[in-house]
Amino acid sequence: MAVKFYKSENQVPLEMHKVRVVQKLNLLPVEKRLQAIQGAGNNTFLLQNKDIYMDMLTDSGVNAMSDEQTAAMFTADDSYAGSETFNRLRRAVKEVFGTEYLLPAHQGRACENILAEAFVKPGSVAIMNFHFTTTKAHITRCGGEVVEVVDSKGLQPQSDDPFKGNFNLDVLKETIEQYGPENVAFVRVEAGTNLIGGQPVSLENMLAVADVCHKYGVMSVLDASLLQDNVYFMKTREAQCKYMTTKQIYHLLADKMDIIYFSSRKLGFGRGGAITSHNESLMKSLMEFIPLYEGFLTYGGMDVRSIEAVAVGLYESLDMDYISQGPEFIQYLVKELDDYGVPVIKPAGGLGAHLNCSEILPELPHNQYPAAAVAAALYIAGGIRGMERGTVSEQREPDGSERYAELELLRLAMPRRVFTLSQVKYCADRVKWVWDNRDLIGGLQWTEEPKVLRFFFGRMKEIGHWQEDLAEKFRMDFGDSL
Ligand SMILES: *Cc1c(COP(=O)(O)O)cnc(C)c1O
Repeated sequence: MAVKFYKSENQVPLEMHKVRVVQKLNLLPVEKRLQAIQGAGNNTFLLQNKDIYMDMLTDSGVNAMSDEQTAAMFTADDSYAGSETFNRLRRAVKEVFGTEYLLPAHQGRACENILAEAFVKPGSVAIMNFHFTTTKAHITRCGGEVVEVVDSKGLQPQSDDPFKGNFNLDVLKETIEQYGPENVAFVRVEAGTNLIGGQPVSLENMLAVADVCHKYGVMSVLDASLLQDNVYFMKTREAQCKYMTTKQIYHLLADKMDIIYFSSRKLGFGRGGAITSHNESLMKSLMEFIPLYEGFLTYGGMDVRSIEAVAVGLYESLDMDYISQGPEFIQYLVKELDDYGVPVIKPAGGLGAHLNCSEILPELPHNQYPAAAVAAALYIAGGIRGMERGTVSEQREPDGSERYAELELLRLAMPRRVFTLSQVKYCADRVKWVWDNRDLIGGLQWTEEPKVLRFFFGRMKEIGHWQEDLAEKFRMDFGDSL
């Protein structure tokens, strides 16, 4: 960050905003936390927000809005067609991306649904650095196949590569040639690659991917949901971007890519989504799906107040003071944990910090769900809710056997502009305590296992008695404190 501290040992990321609306938090005593996580079937999705001190489940739709966003919501123009609110969104998108054409949708996956309906045919392939859950679901539903061509460094838990989301360009070309350009529905670039730890793609790599697409006559699509973190990393990690403005970067990408879509639950600090492009005929081919699935062309399933908030939030996504806050807090948390020896995904990305639970509990087999066990342990230790991103988040094979996740991760998302640094320090402290007491942590087994999306609704119980032992150890170490 631009602010340098007088004493270098005091250097911390400094918020360039102040908090003017607050929400009270509860921190339950450890006995109640034990009850709450067991009552939730050891599934953090089933915890109640009132029982949570730090909610680090996701960065989606939970980012703090600015005073200007909130103020804009009062000026919303509530008309079914031709709303002035939509014109303001159009102007914001034009400012940020420079693009002329805009189709609204109610969230990111709704854009994916429309792109898949329009372009994915049975037998076709969508090539991407890495899949996202909802993206893959829509493509496979339409009979397409997803092929991932992320550089191998992207899948190493620990690396000093600044752009682990980069495409392997040779593999990209080979894949297009192998399937034949006519069978490629599109090449999708995911900025801030979500499922491998919010890892960015370099500007150089994104532009090179677009060039490859042009050469083969294949459509390029940018998933810009996590682009604001990615632009922060381009500015701070990529030499050619240092003296570019954020707006120049957004525009350069929009000039090169055929289609851009995003979830405004992330980009724009609001709720909603949109598809945008310079290409009129491509956008015309998508237009008919908006009234069919979303709503009329000037609201697309979004509430007008949300559209106002997103319009203002998009301008804010150009402002380094705002977009640096998330990545810098994540970097701080990752460094705290790494310095202490806790296995974390490195380098720090956007979105959140990711604990490598295969290394925290190396003896615990995949089918006792190490990442879910650490998630439960961290809730018991500190009322902190993370999200399991390991084997529980996978789906069983058709024959009923488990598909083991490549990495057993616990994601601690960092909602943008939400937490103070003391809360982040508290989180680091409780993770360190969990790490020091990892020998006490045991496995989990299913009590209710849904066939689809089990990570949302499924319930599990501890194997043995380790959760009570962990709570008792907490009492020994912390006395009667929370
Ligand atoms: C969250 C996300 C989506 C889906 O957006 P929703 O608004 O949650 O539907 C798509 N792509 C990426 C990269 C995301 O992070």
